[in-house]
Amino acid sequence: MPLKLKGVAAASGIAIAPLVHFHGDLAFIPTRTLEAQEVDGEQQRLDDAIAGASAAILDLSRDLAIDLTDHELKIYDAQLALLHDKTLLAELRRTIEGDRVNAEVAVQRVISRYESVFERMEDVAMRERAADLRDVGRQVLAVLLERERSSLVAEGHDYVFAADEFLPSDAGAVDRKHLKGIVTARGGKYSHGAILARSLGIPSVVAVDELMQKVRSGTRVIVDGESGAVICDPDDEDIERYRRLAAEQAEADRRVFEVRFLSARTPDGVSIKLMANVESTRDLGGVEEAIVDGIGLFRTEFAFMERRQFPTEDEQVELYHQAIEWANGKVVTFRTLDVGGDKPLPYFKTPDERNPVLGWRGLRISLDWPDLLYTQVRALLRASAGGRARILLPMVTHVDEIVRCRAVVEEIKADLAAAGEDFDDHIELGAMIEVPAIVGVLDEVLREVDFVSVGTNDLVQYLLAVDRDNPRIAQMYTPYHPGVLRTLARIAEVCNAHGKPVSICGEIAGDHYFSALLLGLGFRELSMAPVFLPRVKLMVRTFGLAECEALAREALTLGRSREIRALARDKAQAGWSSFLEGGPS
Ligand code: PEP
Ligand code: MG
Repeated sequence: MPLKLKGVAAASGIAIAPLVHFHGDLAFIPTRTLEAQEVDGEQQRLDDAIAGASAAILDLSRDLAIDLTDHELKIYDAQLALLHDKTLLAELRRTIEGDRVNAEVAVQRVISRYESVFERMEDVAMRERAADLRDVGRQVLAVLLERERSSLVAEGHDYVFAADEFLPSDAGAVDRKHLKGIVTARGGKYSHGAILARSLGIPSVVAVDELMQKVRSGTRVIVDGESGAVICDPDDEDIERYRRLAAEQAEADRRVFEVRFLSARTPDGVSIKLMANVESTRDLGGVEEAIVDGIGLFRTEFAFMERRQFPTEDEQVELYHQAIEWANGKVVTFRTLDVGGDKPLPYFKTPDERNPVLGWRGLRISLDWPDLLYTQVRALLRASAGGRARILLPMVTHVDEIVRCRAVVEEIKADLAAAGEDFDDHIELGAMIEVPAIVGVLDEVLREVDFVSVGTNDLVQYLLAVDRDNPRIAQMYTPYHPGVLRTLARIAEVCNAHGKPVSICGEIAGDHYFSALLLGLGFRELSMAPVFLPRVKLMVRTFGLAECEALAREALTLGRSREIRALARDKAQAGWSSFLEGGPS
């Protein structure tokens, strides 16, 4: 009997493949009830995992032998002793057999029981043993989960990634060639994991409650990125239906794809700039330069996140230079480091914060840590010699922050000039509009910048006070909120009145339901993951400006998100259907 789960649809498309669990920690592991005949096999898995974890600890202590004192190395001896403790082992075995649970659950239960005993002890040294225990438990778990995963992912089988969340670093770590779908227990449609899934064109469903507990690794699943359904152990009828749907979608996509080389011009002749959002130079390999008007958002933090330490100035110059070369004279908008919030840097520990999304993130970090900003701006300026680079500042909250950054740019220009280095003396500086209060002082902002870009992913999160990553309130996160629409209208109006270029680089720019509305509100530049470009271009080519403006006017009179969504969706679907029926494109 198929199990049908529901989450939030995050990236469209259909995937049919076995699901494989990724990530593992003591608090978050798959649960399984064993049949009587499975108990012996599970005990063997446990023994093998303990042997594997011991070997890993031994290897590590040998590797570190030169750098650590004998006393410090004893930590590893103590961990090995714990791992082979007879009482612990007996209890693990008893739990597998008595509770009929898989080895992962037994490790979790027994370790947390021991841990709480140690933590209650008076003696500090004994309390510290609790941390050792946790660490040992984690290592055994890592071996158990890794085995299971590698046996399923090995040999190039297609698979669906399942985890608590899809982290930006996962995109670099997993076997992308056979990755067919992504399902996560946490996250929202606008979290960075979902954005990545969409950029990669991989069907994805997020916020599936208790996913890891309910679905075992190896279970065949259907991921429906359109409706948010995840069907586990589907029957033949489900498979047949979804295969047919997937074939229809592939045919529609193929036809839309053909539109990509046509001009992005409305039927009444208004040209719209369509640009690409990229996370790394790796993404550029899959994008046809000829179909975009440049890179509207280069999220530089991803290159930092995939490394083990901060890239040097020269490494950054090389990276930025590659993007500039690729763009072949078109503009490349480099956003300075936007870490913090849901994008931590593994090697740059920020303090724990109660509200990280309202905390030390984005430009706030760069300004507090001038070395970081100086190095990045210097690298960007040096790279700018070869093409058209722009600098974009994330999470701008106060106009003064822009003034400070402008001063840094000027100071570095003077340094470079004195050193006889080449750079673009007219490099443009822009601000992201993500913090609602900045919309209130937009006139002042525009006096200090050369362009702005609207980051609707964060702007919506802050306007609605709805965390873009929280699955419990994912349904409340909607860019169709009338308050959002009116804010966007105001941004377009002020920027157009000042004659300052404004683009949208949040996810709505690539959502073809939004295209006609955004044009009607007055936006002429949209930057999106390149996979969305053909659909958006199709919309641009379908509706005349007067029609878009009438749509926007009507939308601005509506007071409910669902009404605005229905209006936008009906318009987009009408255009879509007429295209599929062979109408104009
Ligand atoms: C945004 O907030 O809309 C944006 C483009 O930035 P990010 O998604 O990287 O936070
Ligand atoms: Mg943002």
